[in-house]
This record gives sequence, structure tokens and C-alpha cells, in this order.
Amino acid sequence: MHFSRVFPRLRLFLVEKEESVARHQSGHNSGVIHSGIYYKPGSLKARLCVEGAAAMCAFCREYGIPYEICGKLIVATGDDEVPRLHSLLERGRANGLAGLKLVEQEQAREIEPHCGGVAWLLVPGTGITEYTKVCEKYAELISAQGGSVRTSTEVKGIIQRAGETVIETTRGSFSTRYVINCSGLHSDRVSRMAGATPAVEIVPFRGEYYDLVPERRHLVRGLIYPVPDLRFPFLGVHFTRRIGGDVDAGPNAVLAFKREGYRKTDFNLRDVSETFAYPGFWKMAATYWRSGAAEFYRSVHKSAFVQALQKLVPEIRGSDLVPDGSGVRAQALRPDGSLVDDFQFVCTGNMLHVWNVPSPAATASLPIGREIVQMAQQGFGL
Ligand SMILES: Cc1cc2nc3c(=O)[nH]c(=O)nc-3n(C[C@H](O)[C@H](O)[C@H](O)COP(=O)(O)OP(=O)(O)OC[C@H]3O[C@@H](n4cnc5c(N)ncnc54)[C@H](O)[C@@H]3O)c2cc1C
Repeated sequence: MHFSRVFPRLRLFLVEKEESVARHQSGHNSGVIHSGIYYKPGSLKARLCVEGAAAMCAFCREYGIPYEICGKLIVATGDDEVPRLHSLLERGRANGLAGLKLVEQEQAREIEPHCGGVAWLLVPGTGITEYTKVCEKYAELISAQGGSVRTSTEVKGIIQRAGETVIETTRGSFSTRYVINCSGLHSDRVSRMAGATPAVEIVPFRGEYYDLVPERRHLVRGLIYPVPDLRFPFLGVHFTRRIGGDVDAGPNAVLAFKREGYRKTDFNLRDVSETFAYPGFWKMAATYWRSGAAEFYRSVHKSAFVQALQKLVPEIRGSDLVPDGSGVRAQALRPDGSLVDDFQFVCTGNMLHVWNVPSPAATASLPIGREIVQMAQQGFGL
């Protein structure tokens, strides 16, 4: 969208393999407008999330997309988590967030009458929206600005020739001068199609959600989150109120056996073989096998999932939760087994690769677009 605005004379052609936009990560997320509290000061995530949250609210206001700034309560569920809660407060302040406040139990209960815990951090700027509607508006604006959005068109091959690049798709081939690869769970493969050697491999992690039954939704007013372990890019299971009033619980983070595998039973031989053949996967598994196993256990045993949630809201019972959908995260992994934490865009020749845009990339999508266009402008010499 930003590209077609900045370069109205270049013809922008966006190809999407699904029938409509936002069928994968952008349409299967928690719908949170993150404040930017979690991210390392100075990182792209920190900078673009804080800016993106404000830009997302303004965008929603301008185009009549529902959003709400409902605030978030981060709950330390034991004394051992309190120092980490304080570090989070410092981090949020370093990132320029206003209004962060450690609150006493009485005040925490005024905000979330049913929450448990021993210490509480209020993040007043966090909000919620519907990212499918945001993406549909982005697509509409691309078309209005003279670009084309071609759905049901899968990129199958990319042939680099002198002076041009041929994109082979399921609906014919076309030639282009520049390519921006932002294909989410398939971004490493699309790079390889063009002969590039991605510095990372995409490993899919499924996040499963439960829904609170309507009679128990009153247990959660806004967003209730645990104190995350900042060594991991995942936040831990939490409660999220949706725009329509539903309350979600989750998502967990389990290794998916299919890149777009939304059910526990989904399996794709190519996806699994590629993950297991990647040396970085085994190095990551050797480091994080304990937390990986715990996530897997929680995925299979609802009672373990419920126990994790009870730390935040002790009144929650298994009967309050019904299975809801899931989302699959594209997590970029380095050959040494480390998870790429920050956003990562790389420009090589006439192609720009978007390799790592995990959460909070929906929140930060507007400034991410701007950064990508700036990088393309320099890299392509536009
Ligand atoms: C469970 C979960 C919860 C999250 N919660 C939040 C949240 O609350 N707030 C937040 O800010 N972020 C959240 N995120 C992160 C956010 O949703 C993602 O970072 C963001 O949506 C990534 O957008 P994307 O465009 O890179 O990827 P995607 O939305 O996955 O888009 C990539 C697109 O490329 C298409 N594609 C792939 N291969 C091809 C091909 N060969 N040819 C043509 N098209 C192709 C796909 O069909 C897809 O539509 C969450 C993510 C998940 C998974």
C-alpha cells in the first residue's frame, strides 16, 4: 500500500495464492494492538511497534474499522516473577510508553475483578482490532492507488534473466523489474525459488486458542497476560477480549507439522522433512526441548492448559473453555539454532526479502511498509 502511494508511476502487482487476503497469519492472530512494552529498546520491533500502534489506531479511525483501547494487565503469578515484571516496566519506559503503572491488588481488582497474582502492571495503551478488516482495507487502497491485487495466484517459480525477472504463477507468467517477497510462512521458499540463499529457515509454530463460554465471559474485561520469559518470542497463554465481545484464551506455541497446519492432525511430509533436515532445528530443540515438551503437553492435555490460565484467573474451569481456532506463526530460525527475534528484511539485487515479521508485525504493519519501501528505494536505486 505504501509502495503504490510513494511510487504511483511504478505498476504494483500483488499476487496472493489464497482466494482473499489475510487467510494466514494476518487473519489468524489475537487481534491485539500491542503497545511495544516487550521489545528490546532500540530494536526495530520496539520502534515500529510503538509507532505502529498509534498509526493503526489512526488508520482504523480514518476508515471506520472497529478498534478499542482497552488496556492490558500483566500479572506476576509468583514472587519469582516480580523482578521480571519490574524489568518489563523499565523496558516499556525506555521504549517511550506513557501511563505504565504498577498497581496494588485493590486497583488490579477494580480493573480485572477476577484476576489472581501477586503483582500487577497496567499497560493502558494496549488495544484490539480486527486485522482481517485492516488487510482488506489495505488491498482496497492498493487498487484505488492504481495497483493490482491478484488473488488465487500462487507463485511457483522465479526466473532471473538479464534486465528482468519472470514470475511463474498458477495463472500464467509475467515479467517484472523488482520483487518484494513477503510470503509469510513461505518466505524462505520463495527466496530460494529466485536462487537466493536465505540466512534463515521458517519453522512453523501453531498457537491454539480456546474460547470462554458466553456465561463466563464476565471473568475477563480486557486483556490479562502473564509475565513473559523474554528469552522466547512467545508471550505465554493469556486472555484476550475480541472486538465482538468473545474472550479468547491462548495461544500456546507448538511445533506444527505443516506450515499452514491449523489442526493438530495436519501433516505435510515436505514441511516436516525440511524442518528436520535443518541443522538449526536440532540445535534449537537441544536448547529448548523442556519448554517445547511442556507446550506440547499443554496442547494435548486441556487440564494443563487450564492450569496455566488459572494462574491468571483462578476461577477458570475446564468447562468454561471450548476449543476455538488456531494460528501458525512463521518463526525464522538461524543455522546455529537461535530464533531470530527482531524484524528482518534483506535486499539482494532486484529482490527484497521479508524474512522475519512475527508479532507485533500486525500492529506495526504501517511503519513496516514504510521501512520496506525505504529499503527498496535504496536497494533498487529508485
Ligand atoms: C497465533 C498468532 C497470534 C498473533 N497475534 C498478534 C497480535 O495480537 N498482534 C500483532 O500485532 N501481531 C500478532 N501476530 C503476528 C502477525 O499476525 C503477523 O506477524 C503478521 O500477520 C505477518 O504478516 P505477513 O503478511 O508477513 O504474513 P501472512 O499474513 O501470513 O501473509 C503472507 C501471505 O503470503 C501468501 N503466500 C505465501 N506463499 C505464496 C506464494 N508462493 N504465492 C502467492 N502467495 C503466497 C500467503 O497466502 C499469505 O496470505 C500473531 C501471529 C499469530 C500466528
